[in-house]
Amino acid sequence: MDPKLFEQSAARAVRYIETVAGRRVAPTAEEIAGLEALDVPLNDAPCDPCEVIAQLDDFGSPATVATTGPRYFGFVTGGSLPAAMAANWLAGAWDQNGALTIQSPVNAKLEEISAGWLTGLLGLPKDAGVGFVTGATMANFTALSAARHALLARAGWDVEDRGLFGAPEIKVIVGDEVHVSLTKALAMLGLGRSRVAKVPADDQGRMRADLLPPLDPMTLVCIQVGNVNTGAFDPAAEICAKAKRAGAWVHVDGAFGLWAAAAPDRAHLMSGFAAADSWATDCHKWLNVPYDSGLAFVRDAADLRAAMALSAAYLHMSDDREPCLYTPEASRRARGIEIWAALRSLGRSGLAEMIERHCRLAARFAEGLKRYEILNDVVLNQVLVSFGDAEKTRRVIREVQADGTCWCGGTEWHGKTAMRISVSCWSTTEADVDRSVDAIRRIANQYPD
Ligand SMILES: *Cc1c(COP(=O)(O)O)cnc(C)c1O
Repeated sequence: MDPKLFEQSAARAVRYIETVAGRRVAPTAEEIAGLEALDVPLNDAPCDPCEVIAQLDDFGSPATVATTGPRYFGFVTGGSLPAAMAANWLAGAWDQNGALTIQSPVNAKLEEISAGWLTGLLGLPKDAGVGFVTGATMANFTALSAARHALLARAGWDVEDRGLFGAPEIKVIVGDEVHVSLTKALAMLGLGRSRVAKVPADDQGRMRADLLPPLDPMTLVCIQVGNVNTGAFDPAAEICAKAKRAGAWVHVDGAFGLWAAAAPDRAHLMSGFAAADSWATDCHKWLNVPYDSGLAFVRDAADLRAAMALSAAYLHMSDDREPCLYTPEASRRARGIEIWAALRSLGRSGLAEMIERHCRLAARFAEGLKRYEILNDVVLNQVLVSFGDAEKTRRVIREVQADGTCWCGGTEWHGKTAMRISVSCWSTTEADVDRSVDAIRRIANQYPD
């Protein structure tokens, strides 16, 4: 083992981190073309690891999108907090298998501690079962598996044992603005993409609670906190109250929006959500930990454990919280490590400050771009901007991405093409927003109506 390899790799990584704020956000076509240098016929003889890393850095680093920099506003993705990224390096050195306590006592302990901190921060039941999964897609899948278990168990059907053929029907209700990942989770669970009842949404994308179909104990209602375009929250208090009366299960997709609960000034948006039965969120989004990292919370941990059960004599399960009994995966990354480090480094007030700052910065974007058309009520970290007709808006988005000052994606919102701005990186400041607004205005103003 050559310690120089790791010293050089660390030095290269540090150089990347130190320069990321100053570089273009999206790589140039030449930088992307440079990746061809890595496309060599596979060598027969081993290659010196120092050389391997040098090639990765020399040709790979320039072709990255600077998503950890302060002016990346695409896809609500979040950057990577310094403590979380550093913990990720240490976790890489540890290479722990997160499945079992006996394989990694440190991960098992950190998951348990983080689970307690997280339910406290997010205002969720403190005894909820928590699964550390890859992202919100798998968190939705995992939580909905628990819902499927519970609803069918009530009807006397053991779905894990007998499967879905011949099972009593589960009625699934989603909003018109349901996220595609939740639909995918329903498909993977045998609950079907298309047999769902869709409830109309209002102009901000919120489910219309007054149009909810009748609910019963075999109904699964899927709502969301944080619409992926507008950031809007479904009226949870009303929906959860109706569901509770009917004995239905409410699942919340809160991939980024759930974090609003950690910021006192935004927590009012969360009113009623804690009354749901399960929740999904991402840590690689608003908490700013490295990929991949999502969380599934289930009010009654026994439902999650029943859906994720696994046993074999050689697995040496302890009586403690075995991580793999809360997730679809067995062997996996020890995700508790970075989450613990992120929360510990921010503290309660640091997390609140970060979430609140991102919401303030989104409002600053909306203010700076108000001469165009802002399509949503900016209640969270999301801003939708139209620069005129679809073609002009698309052209502005393309040119902003090519310009490199910042990166914003595009979307369609209620028949209009829009630039979608998501503020979710820990390092973004007012100056970054102002610089980005200037670049967007400079480009948009080249095309007067
Ligand atoms: C991002 C997102 C997801 C999917 O999350 P992944 O981490 O990409 O799996 C699901 N729902 C909402 C509302 C999202 O914003």
